[in-house]
Amino acid sequence: MNNINLYNTLERKLMVFNPIDSSNVRMYACGPTVYDYIHIGNARPLVVFDVLVRILRTLYPKVTYVRNITDIDDKINNRALEKSISISDLTKETIKNFHIDCKSLGNLKPDVEPKATDHIDEIIDMIKKLISSGFAYISSGHVLFSVVKYKKYGVLSGRSLDDMISGSRVEVAGYKQNPGDFVLWKPSLESLPGWDSPWGRGRPGWHIECSAMSKKYLGNQFDIHAGGLDLIFPHHENEIAQSCCANNSDVMANFWLHNGYVTSDGEKMSKSLGNFTTINKLLLDFDGESIRYALLQGHYRAPLSFSGKTLTEAKKSLSRLYRSVDGFEINGDPDQEIMEYLYQDLNTPKALARAHYLAEQANKGSKECGQQLKNSSKVLGILSLSTNIWFKYGKDVEDNNQNLDVNISDGEINKLILKRKKAKDNRDFHEADLIREKLLELNIILEDKPGITTWRKS
Ligand SMILES: [Zn+2]
Repeated sequence: MNNINLYNTLERKLMVFNPIDSSNVRMYACGPTVYDYIHIGNARPLVVFDVLVRILRTLYPKVTYVRNITDIDDKINNRALEKSISISDLTKETIKNFHIDCKSLGNLKPDVEPKATDHIDEIIDMIKKLISSGFAYISSGHVLFSVVKYKKYGVLSGRSLDDMISGSRVEVAGYKQNPGDFVLWKPSLESLPGWDSPWGRGRPGWHIECSAMSKKYLGNQFDIHAGGLDLIFPHHENEIAQSCCANNSDVMANFWLHNGYVTSDGEKMSKSLGNFTTINKLLLDFDGESIRYALLQGHYRAPLSFSGKTLTEAKKSLSRLYRSVDGFEINGDPDQEIMEYLYQDLNTPKALARAHYLAEQANKGSKECGQQLKNSSKVLGILSLSTNIWFKYGKDVEDNNQNLDVNISDGEINKLILKRKKAKDNRDFHEADLIREKLLELNIILEDKPGITTWRKS
């Protein structure tokens, strides 16, 4: 049996993965706060941990993958107010768009996708336990976790309590006993979502959601907890404190995995920097599989530099792979060498390099290599289409330059541009792509500018 080695943030080293129960591997990943489209930085954990689930499934009969949805948060309330729509309409719409993006990126659905608002009872129960065991206190309608009560606080992030206190900002909320204490429950205005609780009408803090939901679906102690690097502190640190104290256990999850940032011009991709690119916008010009490929080109723990060029290159690379698997169906086990790379802390760059080696051999006539590559595609979540469909819809630059000399009137071009706009509005990107391609075949190049599409002859 092969071993999977994973870098465990908790131990700060690469470790052999041994599940608690090999008949059911249990994994939790922090999902989105649903107030806006996801950007490329949010997409990275979705894709890399999707690959992790796929490789775990090659070794274990069952993997329970839970990824939550945070549908109660100040950001959601503020955005609904800005857009003058109801909070539930905003979260419903955002969740719908999130699912479309996830599917376009080729991600498998998690086994459970719990929403915070469906788990208020579990959250209240957990807070009650933390109060009764002395780890939490009530102050001015808030319930707070007292960080000094948990001796191992800082175990994940490696921060000492003294550092955290001296490093905290001067303006500390008056209701906190200690600047590091964090909110488990807070009062809610009448106009905002809230639930009755022993501490008055209010709503849960963000961290407690994940503790309550992971406990419900995965138990007090489970195998893997995953998320982005920025979640290590305070989110994951606080999850550990809450779960271990409420469940009276030593460990919440055995392995803690964190992916690195996506950067643009050396800066972290984030909404506050304004350099974020949403997946739904990228999908107007690229197919989801190219975005997925681009995200897997770097090792998941390293920062990933991202630009439009990255996607153009990714698309070309994918087209090379697609050409070499033309006519093959999945039939047999994935390539052993690709699996060895993936088992070694998800080394996707090496796995993709090996995929290109197999493609080269296949192009030189090795049927065996073409078959092995196709067999390995599922574990990476790429090459999911037939080669024919990829080139028809995938808009590969090199393959669509058989310029036909056909005349088309300006009126007909404008009609097609309108049709394409309608397709895009309905998020029917295949249809929109087909129209762009059809015009390209007629030597008409479309140029999308904010609010308008123009065209020129090539
Ligand atoms: Zn979480």
